[in-house]
Amino acid sequence: MPLSQTAPAASADAARSRLHITPQTILSRSPRTGAIIGEVEVATPLQIREAVGLARLAQPAWEGIGLRRRLTFLRSLRDALYRGQNRILDMLVAEQGKVRQEATLEYLACLELVDYTLRTAPRVLRQRDVRVRLLPHRRFTIERYPYGVVLVIAPWNYPLWLSLDPIVTGLAAGNTILYKPSEYASQLGEIVASLVAEADIPREVFHILHGYGDVGQALIAAHPDYIVFTGSAATGRKVAHAAAEQVIPVTLELGGKDAAIVLADADVEEVAEGIVWSGMFNAGQTCASVERVIVLRPVAERLIAAMKQAVMRYISNGDGTPSPMLAALTTPQQMEIVQQQVQEALATGARAIIGGRRLDGDGRFYAPTILVDVTPEMRIWQEETFGPVVAVMVADTEEEAIHLANASDYGLTASLWTRDPRRAEHLARQLKVGSVSINEHLLISGVPEMPWGGVKGSGYGRTHGEQGLQEMTCIRTLNSDRWALPLEPFRYPYTAFKRSLARRATHFLYGPTLIDRLRSLR
Ligand code: NDP
Repeated sequence: MPLSQTAPAASADAARSRLHITPQTILSRSPRTGAIIGEVEVATPLQIREAVGLARLAQPAWEGIGLRRRLTFLRSLRDALYRGQNRILDMLVAEQGKVRQEATLEYLACLELVDYTLRTAPRVLRQRDVRVRLLPHRRFTIERYPYGVVLVIAPWNYPLWLSLDPIVTGLAAGNTILYKPSEYASQLGEIVASLVAEADIPREVFHILHGYGDVGQALIAAHPDYIVFTGSAATGRKVAHAAAEQVIPVTLELGGKDAAIVLADADVEEVAEGIVWSGMFNAGQTCASVERVIVLRPVAERLIAAMKQAVMRYISNGDGTPSPMLAALTTPQQMEIVQQQVQEALATGARAIIGGRRLDGDGRFYAPTILVDVTPEMRIWQEETFGPVVAVMVADTEEEAIHLANASDYGLTASLWTRDPRRAEHLARQLKVGSVSINEHLLISGVPEMPWGGVKGSGYGRTHGEQGLQEMTCIRTLNSDRWALPLEPFRYPYTAFKRSLARRATHFLYGPTLIDRLRSLR
């Protein structure tokens, strides 16, 4: 329920943050202005139980209507999304503090995601026959069927994209959905729920449940059949633990500490622009942001200077006020993390060649920051920062650069910047991450066609692409009659003839030489 009321911007961050008026409500405030945007009710234990019960009851019917009808609903969802452009963008700007053009990219990716699902689900989810040459008289089929009730726990940084992705693929596959938006994206969550309602998707099929972490915990305890969790590594561990205790499968899309490796032959001006955009987009609040730059020594000085120029050209007013191209930090906690990590780095020897402090004014903005003289022990090099901060280290060899990139608890994405595509592909294969981009970094995270996810502390499972859709289903294999044999070769009684048949088949199928294979005729 959006409220039109506004509040005077308070000076302290605590006052600007969402206030928990009572444990039963979540109040949204704009990180740009401090204005109140809206308020929602936190789901009660009874509402959670009811929602889970209804989702479970409704699931067989939702599955039973078949893929074609489910896709008709999802086509209506896409149309509702299309019609809702302005209010969605307004909310992403107001509640998350995004730059409108950046919000537009998130919105576009969502339209493409729904469209991609509509186009590909019939092929990706259809059953598939498998030829089994030892049993030609049997028919083998791989079928996909929905898990049942899927719990989607979403973060605040791309609240539209990271909610709609699992919701749309989950619904297409025939699951019913329990959806917990982040407490910092509750109003956007309401918009997602309204799009589902506009598409006439039955109310029992989709349930939004607002709340803090304890609502997430209660939803997991209610034993959904599958969980898609996107969020921090720390919460991801808790979710994985709670899910494992009940043997609930889970997709974990967690944080990143992405490295961009710049080789000695790189076009420095071009690379600087690409890296600055990939590190500062959405004020760095992207799981796949460039947070670490590893540059080969011959071009290090020029790259660092060019990066500073790129920041000054686009996202720094230079007077302590935020540039219109810079997003706000959505949460007060995020501001604290960024400030602490940068201050700690500066206190232990790093240098900010630009930025390094919170910007003036009431909005929650942090100055775009480039840090040099960073060492691998610093928290700024090891932990996810999730702010407009890029830390740079210089490497003497490509091997050292790859080693530095891989020496991380995270493994989401990485990029290589060079004029030599073959060298880049060779090095890409040495990176322990879920995606590698060459002369680009960020875009792959928003491509619905490409499977998305990380390794190591960045999580497991995949969203997007065919795999993302398939992960919303379990596999059931079918073994049925194709044609009748005059005798069953594997059953009782075990006769000499059946033994000879097995021996001949062994020679014919696996004999390494022609002579071995001809022994099947004897
Ligand atoms: P959090 O881990 O803080 O929260 C994620 C969601 O989990 C929120 O809805 C949160 O509710 C809920 N939650 C909190 N505690 C629990 C619990 N114990 N059990 C169940 N659910 C719980 O992440 P953020 O919202 O801060 O999101 C930012 C993080 O997400 C970053 O680390 C980022 O890298 C990662 N991310 C990863 C992506 C990927 O694809 N790999 C994509 C985008 C973001 P509440 O908000 O009320 O705390």
